[in-house]
Amino acid sequence: MITKSHCQTLDQNDALAPLRNEFDLPKNVTYLDGNSLGAQPKAALTRAQQVITQEWGQDLIRSWNSAGWFDMPSRLGDMLAPLIGANPAEVVVTDSTSVNLFKALAAALHLQAELHPHKKIIVSERSNFPTDLYMVQGLTQWLDRGYRLELVDSPEQLNSAINEHVAVALLTHVNYRTGEMLDMTSLTTHIHAQGALAIWDLCHSAGAVPVELNAANADFAIGCTYKYLNGGPGSPAFIWVAERHLAKFTHPLSGWWGHTAPFAMQPEFTPTASIRRALCGTQPMISLALVETGLAVFKKTSMTALREKSLALTDLFIQLVEQRCANHPLGLVTPRSHSKRGSHVSFTHPHAYPIIQALIERGIIGDYREPAVLRFGFTPLYTGFVDVWNAVEALRDILDTQAYQINATRHAVT
Ligand SMILES: *Cc1c(COP(=O)(O)O)cnc(C)c1O
Repeated sequence: MITKSHCQTLDQNDALAPLRNEFDLPKNVTYLDGNSLGAQPKAALTRAQQVITQEWGQDLIRSWNSAGWFDMPSRLGDMLAPLIGANPAEVVVTDSTSVNLFKALAAALHLQAELHPHKKIIVSERSNFPTDLYMVQGLTQWLDRGYRLELVDSPEQLNSAINEHVAVALLTHVNYRTGEMLDMTSLTTHIHAQGALAIWDLCHSAGAVPVELNAANADFAIGCTYKYLNGGPGSPAFIWVAERHLAKFTHPLSGWWGHTAPFAMQPEFTPTASIRRALCGTQPMISLALVETGLAVFKKTSMTALREKSLALTDLFIQLVEQRCANHPLGLVTPRSHSKRGSHVSFTHPHAYPIIQALIERGIIGDYREPAVLRFGFTPLYTGFVDVWNAVEALRDILDTQAYQINATRHAVT
């Protein structure tokens, strides 16, 4: 049986433990929802203050040059690149994941329409995050060129569903609900063998697990910065385009920030040669500046070290729940195999929603996902092993004493 003192020893021997000091977290809270909204880097407050009082307040419009505002989407892309196995010139931070998905899909369909006009199928998973599927539906219905979205019910069906009729496979690397991680390299190889293109959604991967986009030979990728990258609520997302596709990367959101010479104020749109062609219009500078403070923390460690701790945390959580809550109807949804596990763990329980509410009342913040899923994110930058112990103890007590109200009202955001 694992004991609390064992968890304390793990914390004492944890080389990453000091990184928690980079974040402002409330006392008496065990935060296991950094996969949905990352914690606040301490540097964010000073940086926001600097942008507002100095760069905006005093320097005003000069800051587009003097404070590097105009370059910020590419500069942040350069900082992010090593975390996802990309080259600096391939990534920008801009817009939302949903909007970037629209651009990547439009570009991919455009490339395929030239090469393989008969390919009309887009494959994804039914369990993908809904906005990804909604964006595909929106774009293809609007294009009205016979594209069809085909959804598989499990990752095992992907290989057979991705056949010679498929134009694009839109896959989320780590599933938001189950925490299951797909094999990016082998799937991308299969996708290419069928003449299709691969768009990878990295929302639950960037900053959570090592990602090697170029080594996997992926085509396009998108992802959030407000989850594991700690960029702040609603902070702009990223878009990655493999260098080999850049010259032909075109999308319909051809705003002036993607122009080769935005301030030439020409009436004709000529895309810039660089990854900045993925930009559309003026970006939210305060929010972008905060993304920098989130990314800066990653310079103090490596994805290899973070991955090792993440697996230790999720292993410990699974073991403790199975030892200490054994007589309750909890079902592990997340794969046990390390090669298939992201950085969060989900369990089903018939009363999952009220249980999560009871946990939150005790300061253990996880979240609920349909249907009947308790979801716990483990962010090795600021989560420790005693945090895991405390979370499981609270869960065990709530289950043993049935300290949850079955009719708990649902909030708008679960
Ligand atoms: C969180 C998440 C999103 C969110 O998209 P937004 O445009 O930022 O709202 C999209 N896709 C996946 C897979 C996610 O996990």
